[in-house]
Amino acid sequence: MTGAGTAAVAAVERVATRLEAERDHLTELDSAIGDADHGGNMARGWRAAADAAADVEDPDAATVVKTTGKTVMAEVGGAAGPLYGGSLVFASAELDEGLTPESAVAFAETYLEKVQDRGDASVGDATMVDALVPAVHTFKKSIETDELPPVEALAKAVEAARRGVDFTVPIRASKGRASYLGWRSVGHQDPGATSTLFILEALLEVAQEHGDVTVADADATSPTIPDEDV
Ligand code: ADP
Ligand code: MG
Repeated sequence: MTGAGTAAVAAVERVATRLEAERDHLTELDSAIGDADHGGNMARGWRAAADAAADVEDPDAATVVKTTGKTVMAEVGGAAGPLYGGSLVFASAELDEGLTPESAVAFAETYLEKVQDRGDASVGDATMVDALVPAVHTFKKSIETDELPPVEALAKAVEAARRGVDFTVPIRASKGRASYLGWRSVGHQDPGATSTLFILEALLEVAQEHGDVTVADADATSPTIPDEDV
């Protein structure tokens, strides 16, 4: 098991690798309803973010996420750059006291709020929000109501995001460049919802490999209470 900061660096690296592998796929989706830059923008920007994250000295989760967000904001461009990057920078403050199941939920909620704040998109507009809302709501419910371990909660969130991506296909885009197509956007999968799913899938892989880093960190910082029964 590793600390949350190290896991966060590994997560950004995994996201970059996945987005590089999906570059052509995302480009294809954005060609159909946009300007064909989403694959290149995301792959290039997240590779830069992974390099920046790897350079963080003595990494903690908040600093790694903030560094990632700043780099994504500077390097990705398009509509997606500020939405992904700016929201990551803003939400990183939720991790300042460390990564716990509670702070992970707060991070996810603040990230979603910021994306909606900046982009003014709601569920049904055929944007990244259609993947993000079900993912964040499912994550929160899985942690707070179902009391699932964070990695299982994240797995549920990924499934929910996948259904959100599918939901973008039969609906009309009402925000961003795809909305210029009007009804012709119907029948196309949204590139930003798709990249959101890829990012979540990469995070899940790393979370599964690193074990429960939230518990590991909480254990490391909480005082040891002697067990009087022994
Ligand atoms: P651009 O449209 O400027 O070329 P990208 O191709 O990088 O930007 O990203 C397009 C994606 O950004 C869309 O597929 C959609 O998911 C997302 N997007 C666009 N506008 C908004 C918005 N207002 N709110 C949320 N997401 C948006
Ligand atoms: Mg585009």
